Amino acid sequence: MRKQRAARVLGTVAEVAKAWGIKRRLDRALLLGRAYEKCLSCTVEISGRSKVQAGAANTRLGKILLNAALMEPGREADRNATLLHECAHILADSVYRRNCGHGSSWKRVMELLGEKPDVHHALDYLSPKAQAVATWACRTCGEEYHYVRKPRHRPQDCYCARCGPRRGRLQAIEIPPPRPELDPPSAFDSRTEIGVNAYQRAKKGRTRP
Ligand SMILES: [Zn+2]
Ligand SMILES: [Zn+2]
Repeated sequence: MRKQRAARVLGTVAEVAKAWGIKRRLDRALLLGRAYEKCLSCTVEISGRSKVQAGAANTRLGKILLNAALMEPGREADRNATLLHECAHILADSVYRRNCGHGSSWKRVMELLGEKPDVHHALDYLSPKAQAVATWACRTCGEEYHYVRKPRHRPQDCYCARCGPRRGRLQAIEIPPPRPELDPPSAFDSRTEIGVNAYQRAKKGRTRP
């Protein structure tokens, strides 16, 4: 049996925010009372499991997960912004007692914290391109399709979403070395994770009509 990589617990949100010098930014949510207290008591964990997600929040479990890539030197601003993004989930969910996702309640909390309510991160090192195990390119327009997990189909069974089944034939442009087996998906609610950079999936279908 494979041993699952354990997430590293950094401490509570209160401890981590203080250590990272962003406690004052978080304190803008003081007026939320109990929701603010709840947020401060949540635990922050570092995980290397996700390839393209910067962070995740689980209000019910009182946990915030941050991608281990954010802990590298020089990425402090990204790390701090991600923690505040996840704190905003805990705050909004706690105030409204439901999963607010990235809706207007979450956006209002982000604004209260003085953060831009961006749903998707734009971190190059967590982009599908940087994390791809396979990349296909359209033979006509050159559009690239990046897969962070092994694609279930072959390029010849799919076509470029832009060029269509007749003109959009695809070819694999990279055969990367094999990567270790992926861990099972985490228990975190995917609705509260920072999504991947927007990218189009190649459409499955016959390459010839
Ligand atoms: Zn194309
Ligand atoms: Zn989010």
